[in-house]
Amino acid sequence: MKLSRQFTVFGSAIFCVVVFSLYLMLDHIDHSKNPNGERIQKGQLGILQDKIDHLERLLAENNEIIGNIRDSVINLRETVKDGKMFPEGNMSQGDLELLPPAPALLPIHSEDCQFAARTYSKAADGVQMLDVYDLLSFDNPDGGVWKQGFDISYQDNEWDNEPLQVFVVPHSHNDPGWLKTFDDYYRDQTQHILNNMVVKLHEDSRRKMIWSEISYFSKWWDNIDEQKRDAVRRLIESGQLEVATGGWVMPDEANTHYFALIDQLVEGHQWLERNLGVKPKTGWAVDPFGHTPTQAYLLRQAGLSNMLIQRVHYSVKKHFASQKTLEFFWRQNWDQDSSSDILCHMMPFYSYDVPHTCGPDPKICCQFDFKRLPGGRISCPWRIPPQAITDNNVQERAQTLLDQYRKKSKLFRTNVLLAPLGDDFRYTEAVEWDQQFENYQKLFDYMNSHPELHVQAQFGTISDYFEALRKSTGMDPVGMNVGQLALPVLSGDFFTYADRDDHYWSGYFTSRPFYKRLDRVLESHLRAAEVLYSLTLANIQKYGQPNDYPAVDNYKLLTEARRNLGLFQHHDAITGTGKDWVVVDYGTRLFHSILNVKRVIVSSAHWLVLKDKQTYYHDPSNPVLQMVSVHIFFTVPRLLVVYNPTEQARMSMVTVYVTTPKVRVLNAVGHVVRAQVSAVWNDVSHAAADLSFVAQAAPLGLSVYQLMEGMEPRTEAAKYMILQDGRQISISELEHFQQFYQQDAAPVHIENPHLKLSISTATGLLEKMSLKEDDSEHLIKVEFVWYGTTSNKDKSGAYLFLPDKEATIYSPSQPPVVRVTKGPLFSEVTTTFTHITHTLRLYNIQGVEGQSVEICNTVDIRGETNHEIAMRITSDLNSKDRFFTDLNGYQVQPRKTLAKLPLQANFYPMTSMVYLQDSSARLSLLTAQSLGAASLKSGQLEVIMDRRLNQDDNRGLGQGVLDNKITANSFRLLLEKRSSAEEVYSDERFAALILHRKGFDCGFSNRNTALLCTTTRGKVHLEKLLTDLKLKSITPVSLSLMHTYNSDADPQEISLKPMEIRTYRLQLS
Ligand SMILES: [Zn+2]
Repeated sequence: MKLSRQFTVFGSAIFCVVVFSLYLMLDHIDHSKNPNGERIQKGQLGILQDKIDHLERLLAENNEIIGNIRDSVINLRETVKDGKMFPEGNMSQGDLELLPPAPALLPIHSEDCQFAARTYSKAADGVQMLDVYDLLSFDNPDGGVWKQGFDISYQDNEWDNEPLQVFVVPHSHNDPGWLKTFDDYYRDQTQHILNNMVVKLHEDSRRKMIWSEISYFSKWWDNIDEQKRDAVRRLIESGQLEVATGGWVMPDEANTHYFALIDQLVEGHQWLERNLGVKPKTGWAVDPFGHTPTQAYLLRQAGLSNMLIQRVHYSVKKHFASQKTLEFFWRQNWDQDSSSDILCHMMPFYSYDVPHTCGPDPKICCQFDFKRLPGGRISCPWRIPPQAITDNNVQERAQTLLDQYRKKSKLFRTNVLLAPLGDDFRYTEAVEWDQQFENYQKLFDYMNSHPELHVQAQFGTISDYFEALRKSTGMDPVGMNVGQLALPVLSGDFFTYADRDDHYWSGYFTSRPFYKRLDRVLESHLRAAEVLYSLTLANIQKYGQPNDYPAVDNYKLLTEARRNLGLFQHHDAITGTGKDWVVVDYGTRLFHSILNVKRVIVSSAHWLVLKDKQTYYHDPSNPVLQMVSVHIFFTVPRLLVVYNPTEQARMSMVTVYVTTPKVRVLNAVGHVVRAQVSAVWNDVSHAAADLSFVAQAAPLGLSVYQLMEGMEPRTEAAKYMILQDGRQISISELEHFQQFYQQDAAPVHIENPHLKLSISTATGLLEKMSLKEDDSEHLIKVEFVWYGTTSNKDKSGAYLFLPDKEATIYSPSQPPVVRVTKGPLFSEVTTTFTHITHTLRLYNIQGVEGQSVEICNTVDIRGETNHEIAMRITSDLNSKDRFFTDLNGYQVQPRKTLAKLPLQANFYPMTSMVYLQDSSARLSLLTAQSLGAASLKSGQLEVIMDRRLNQDDNRGLGQGVLDNKITANSFRLLLEKRSSAEEVYSDERFAALILHRKGFDCGFSNRNTALLCTTTRGKVHLEKLLTDLKLKSITPVSLSLMHTYNSDADPQEISLKPMEIRTYRLQLS
């Protein structure tokens, strides 16, 4: 039951992150533009830096806006019908608000109590990645030619009965942005690759090719004529060209939220369906830096049967290779049967380039990358160049290559072998097609015409390979039955990736956090806009009233936004691993799409709120509704429309900027709503204030509130205390607000009905948290810490986290300024350090929003060198080495901090949450942006918030990370008491009680038996044994719990004969 509530809280909190509040100014009298409004016209943005500065402001605002809304049901359309648009009477005081129970307080059906984080799927039927991590020593011995592996040998006659089937799969990895922007890559490389493909595949029907990035493919399609399109259709029909995965991009799998993963998959698949009638069968992910089961699940749900992954920790690869488990059914942790299974191939070697795909020896395989023939632009670093295949050398060359194929084949369970043939942006020039395809065809022809070699080699697509694999194991072509040859079942994920030594790719979990936040802002806006757009279209159809609602234009804006969001899911985009100007290109796309989806929101909401739809008009230069950044000037009463884009009724705090602290807030039926005005700290000399109130909105509903100028007792001003160095400071300019004082040195307290926080006056940081539900006090300490980078040759960069040592505590040279706000609706403590502005806020509100602490850290490390800054939360929870992070906001993965791994290996991606727990409580940190997180000590959580790195980390990017921005990170900290004595780390709700009645030889004095209690004559009283726990059930079982026995014995008192061992299955509560 407790877990279920925690899940509700988790779920709701996620929606708080995804939700944003929309403020629409509906003003029938005055259409004049707000002079301070933030509406940005196209073309108003000048150079790129301006745009990015703007993004910074937008994000700062959004972080204040995010985290709003909940409750009651006031739909503006209904209100308008009822003629209550401008409620005039009934402004009497008193408690007229109706506060319905918060959603989190509703009971949860027991069948819904399966938490996302089932610890294990049945370990017995397969491989659990957590167990693999326990098993591995993570030593890194030199494996010989296969440096990270082992020597592979075989007998010559092994293929005599069943020949080796080799599929050489030509591929070209096209990053939609990395060292160049998407458009520049397209212009310089991608269009030539695709143009040559049409010509070169038609020259020989035995040639094959796969393609995966639809962002590129669709752009090219738009630029080619119908004749070429027909040629492409023929290649697809004949099976020479296969689209693998078919997403908009090959997405990152660590930082991406599943909404955006689905978005980019839908965008790619819908394009394929419309233009080519293609349904992809096989996933292809050679470059994402670690792999998530969420993607496996989404591919399976999208109708794919097979998938391939590549970037997996080298020790894991070696282990899987030695067990021949590189091919497996990937099953979700939470799956109770096999419905989520997808057949997965893990590539065994270091990279997806040619030297690491034909077999274990890169020195040999490189000689079969014919783009590296002498005289070309690239060569083999192992200094043995390829030779063009001739009649003279074909025998020796074929045997050399076959030796590699055979060795690679020994790592798998079947005689079907996959040998990818490609690299980044390969097959650009026509000559490269000839070099690869002609030379390989000669090798294949030789091999296939010599039966004594027992090999059948050919070009193939990735699905050709899987088809042959399934056939050879007796599986059907698409299903997941295991077939004659058992393939293992695997559950878990493949983070954190290391490609060599201690080079763990945990830096990119945080790199460029500003853009990781921006991604989620667009994601939430896009979802909100899509909902409103769909509602509007459905209403237009229902009412059949034609008007000039810009349905087509809005659809185009939404499509472009989906594609820009999709593009950003690419594994060099959201990861923060592109060149500076590429990052700016992505940021500009995200930003323009945020502006554009706001236009969709505004025009759709306008249509929806109108009573008389005939009066709708579309004037983009002067919209009736404005999504301004909420500057409200009181020339007349103003209406504020709040939109709830989630499927749950919501009650949430809304804050708007008003030009006077004397404001009254009315809800749609004219009741005065309780409100709080707070000082605007960068504008204290003016009368401006932040007005906060609890807004309520139905699922997908629009609610209207009216703001009027005037004295109102239900609008109360916040009170302030300012401290520096533990001393209270008086501020004279605060004319509209009062200051309060407290005894020196005592900690500051802020509280709401659920929580009380104790904050140091000297540091302004949280020290203790009390739960009012049981009056318990917990040590929960917030600190900031720095990481440096190692002095070794290889240093931290965009991908890698290579810290010099454990983190050092952030100790600012100047004592921070601590500002305490106390008010009826929220209280907060804002502490300003040199590099961080840290706010802890408590809402006086029902439901989850009131049960958690909102944390906002605005981080600025632009003046630093090789520094990373983290927030550390230390608690008194006894979590040991266990903690949990979410995967893609979709599911939870248990983690174990391992001392045998370096510090950087113990960081994991956190898309929406990290938590730890013990037998009595759980502490969760929910996040509004993806960042890297760890639990390096029992009870401790740590989140890296920004990183500034002066050098490249040798993964091809060729630059450091020095384009840091002022970045606001938002979190919620939630402490929950466990309500049932459930096992902490196990899904098993029973305990095994094994009793042994020891025998004593009583012929001797008992002085030295070391017994500290008397014996019981073989009787055990369970009530006494289990002092605090209640026995729910007890069942006698066989020793290893395999057999259950009937019993009519008294469950409370057990009798054992001397020397007897008895086992019971207990259920405790
Ligand atoms: Zn890539």
